[in-house]
Amino acid sequence: MKKIKTCRICKSNSVVKFLSLGNMPLAGGFLKKEDIPSEKKYPLNVYFCKKCSLVQVLDVIPPDMLFKDYRYLSSSTKTLSEHFRKAATYYKERFLKNKDGFVVEIGSNDGVLLKPLSDLRISAIGVDPSENVSKIARSKGLNIIMDYFTKKVAKEIVNKYGKADLIIANNVFAHIDNLDEVMDGIKILLKEDGVYIFEVQYIIDLLENTKYDTMYHEHLCYYSLHALSHLMNRFGIEIFDVDRIPIHSGSIRVFVRNKGKNESISKKVKELLELENKTGILDEKSYITFGDLINKNKIELIGLLRNLKKQGKRIIGYGAPGSSIILLNYCDIGKEILDYVVDVSPERYGRVIPGKHIEIFHPDKMKEKYPDCALILAYTYKDEILSKEKDFIEKGGKFIMPLPKIEILP
Ligand SMILES: [Zn+2]
Repeated sequence: MKKIKTCRICKSNSVVKFLSLGNMPLAGGFLKKEDIPSEKKYPLNVYFCKKCSLVQVLDVIPPDMLFKDYRYLSSSTKTLSEHFRKAATYYKERFLKNKDGFVVEIGSNDGVLLKPLSDLRISAIGVDPSENVSKIARSKGLNIIMDYFTKKVAKEIVNKYGKADLIIANNVFAHIDNLDEVMDGIKILLKEDGVYIFEVQYIIDLLENTKYDTMYHEHLCYYSLHALSHLMNRFGIEIFDVDRIPIHSGSIRVFVRNKGKNESISKKVKELLELENKTGILDEKSYITFGDLINKNKIELIGLLRNLKKQGKRIIGYGAPGSSIILLNYCDIGKEILDYVVDVSPERYGRVIPGKHIEIFHPDKMKEKYPDCALILAYTYKDEILSKEKDFIEKGGKFIMPLPKIEILP
């Protein structure tokens, strides 16, 4: 593990630690049972930069350990599939109308966006370091470069295919340790009048929804628009539009282009920067309050679950996103509370929750004998889960929401 001491964006040493989640297993590292004895844990601390406002994890795990064998398939949730299908149409309408555009997607996963782009007859290639998910994308006939996006890869793409009209990176900008390398690559690859669009979890939503469980080694940066502006400025790039979107409990879709176009900048950019000033997310104090809230939620949740166990209730976990690992380990919820966890992603069956070693099964496992309660670990998909599990609810089953506030449903 590498430990860095300065801010990833502004390079200052004005970084202050506001959250210690303890020693944590890797959030994406769903283990096979036989690998439990060799499991490792790493310190997980989160810092705030007083100069540029970037919130960041400075303990850096070698990326190959996180991304080579990746247990997260974007297409497995209906919400994401639909979101990216709509996004593909939107990109085409807004930026590629009446022209043959060339699109490069960084972090193409299983082709959740590339497939609808290619269905629209847009020439697009993906770059993704993960071997198992890239193979899935390739099996759909998509063109994938199995690698990290670097200056070298950017040059290779330019040589072979030319520069890109659009570069897209959804939910990957948070994963990057060396932001300068990726930004240099984008500068090399993007056409002079090209557009770089990315979606990333938004710090205001993260704080408002107490989503501390998305803070883990895989997610190195948690962005405000202020922090992003600081970064883009350094590379002669400007943010010209931004949208708040509901994905992952609150993200932003950011549109950037090379500076010097003299084209207008959407008023939404200025409005969001003003909102950030008002909400206090540029102030260290907000993060200390956030830390207190998390601790309170932990005490309340574990109290509720222990009480239910005392009453003889059978409880399972529903959904095993990376964030579930942080929540279960931080709150110390193990096999003594949850009988097992179910998840829709086949990549995780037969594996266990890191740190807590609770087994993961297909959601149909519940039907063998319905539990009394299910702790919703994939609570971002609450509505999707509730509508899918009507039978469980009709038979008296209760769902427990752990965050943003503890709730029993229905
Ligand atoms: Zn900084």
